Amino acid sequence: MNSKNTNRQHAIVIGGSLGGLLTARVLSNHFAQVTILERDEVANHPAPRKGQPQARHLHGLLATGLQVFSGYFPDLRQALIDNGAVVADFADSMQWYSYGGYRKRFKMGVESTLMSRPLLEHLVRERVLALPNVTLMDNCGVLGLVTAVSGEQITGVQVEYRNQGQQDVLNADLIVDCTGRGSHTPKWLKELGYDPAPESEVRVDVGYATRVYRRDPADKRGTDWILVTPEAPKENRFGGLFPVEGDRWICSMGGWLGDHAPLDEAAFLEFARSLPAPDIYNIISQAEPISEIIPHKFPYSLRRHYEKLHRFPAGYLLLGDAISSFNPTYGQGMTSAALQAAELDALLARRPALEGIARPFFKRAAKVIDVPWQLAVGEDFRFPQTTGPKPPGTDFINRYVAKVHRATLHDEVVGEAFLKVMNLMAPPPSLFHPRILWRVLRGKRPSPTAVPKLQPTVGD
Ligand SMILES: Cc1cc2nc3c(=O)[nH]c(=O)nc-3n(C[C@H](O)[C@H](O)[C@H](O)COP(=O)(O)OP(=O)(O)OC[C@H]3O[C@@H](n4cnc5c(N)ncnc54)[C@H](O)[C@@H]3O)c2cc1C
Repeated sequence: MNSKNTNRQHAIVIGGSLGGLLTARVLSNHFAQVTILERDEVANHPAPRKGQPQARHLHGLLATGLQVFSGYFPDLRQALIDNGAVVADFADSMQWYSYGGYRKRFKMGVESTLMSRPLLEHLVRERVLALPNVTLMDNCGVLGLVTAVSGEQITGVQVEYRNQGQQDVLNADLIVDCTGRGSHTPKWLKELGYDPAPESEVRVDVGYATRVYRRDPADKRGTDWILVTPEAPKENRFGGLFPVEGDRWICSMGGWLGDHAPLDEAAFLEFARSLPAPDIYNIISQAEPISEIIPHKFPYSLRRHYEKLHRFPAGYLLLGDAISSFNPTYGQGMTSAALQAAELDALLARRPALEGIARPFFKRAAKVIDVPWQLAVGEDFRFPQTTGPKPPGTDFINRYVAKVHRATLHDEVVGEAFLKVMNLMAPPPSLFHPRILWRVLRGKRPSPTAVPKLQPTVGD
């Protein structure tokens, strides 16, 4: 901790979800005291909360995400395993149907970690709160910002202790908004006379429906993660079935452009049956459901371009979904937040003073966000109905990447290149490397893995 810097006495993180926890972890390196303010009551066991409705749905952690998390919490991977998470080779445990076949399985030497989102967050929170200089105040909602007389510096936050109905002001040298997509910063800054950040919205109208099932621990399929993703635009439905701790399967299904999975039991199963591969249907039609079917609607990916603002108050930053929330079907949000937190860590390590930190931080965060945004938005624009700012060259890239998808069904070299990009381990242009380009364009016919048969339903 850099205690020589007298303006690094206290930092506040607003929001105690994964973005906030990672931010608190990195700030603990640079501030004498870090306080996380979370509006919800936080249980000391894995449990979803009202303020993070997405936590009930399937969450995959990309390999880069696991790497960054593990850098800050070296025993996290083992703790996940000890708590029943399924850790296996990413490509060898993949049962992923797309573009008319299964992507070829192979040993990649990179791990996938399959767990419920509440378990991951609980284990991260345990580790953050074990740090001697980090405190969590739950049931503590932030109502607004407090400024110095000039209005150029945020000096604190106005909070409400929800159990007591009392309000207070808490001061800090740096405040980081990690309140997610619904962040009130645009409104708070406007009230202080600042311009709002320009926003990009890419409308996808994606809807999830999720149910948890009991998993037989003896089932050999229990270390595979199963995905069925569409060959857009002719298909627009997806499904995911991941084994998670507690001998459970978590199943999320849905579709783009309003084709959402239904919440009624029979129709939910019928939706599974309608997917182009039967793997999910075959398992959930035989398994015992142990939860309700829970919906989540995601109308559009949203990016707030704080990096484009010329005037921004000192002592204040944002991180995670509060800056950018991506179409969740690509599983990038937690990794993006982790990479942004790592950038903040590096920046604070380089600069002794906090003055003028906003601009370089937002530039670094934008660089992190550029790649997952490009990947997510690019894929979404395969649907001609998608609206929003379309990056130049998207159609050309999509035509080529469609060939990449098909090549992954039979070519593990292309498969590895694709999975590295998807996991944010390699930049998207690496798919255009001559070695990959040649393999993709030579158009060798796939010898696809046989698709299993749909199991009959009772009454068929
Ligand atoms: C359906 C769905 C599925 C997803 N699947 C994946 C996936 O597979 N992989 C992946 O990496 N990402 C996924 N994501 C994204 C991922 O959930 C987020 O990127 C991740 O939670 C990081 O978000 P965050 O911490 O920035 O914000 P959030 O998780 O939204 O947390 C914000 C926190 O701030 C608190 N808060 C809000 N307002 C206040 C206030 N005024 N005062 C105090 N506290 C406040 C909230 O209670 C909450 O705890 C998915 C998202 C959705 C919607």
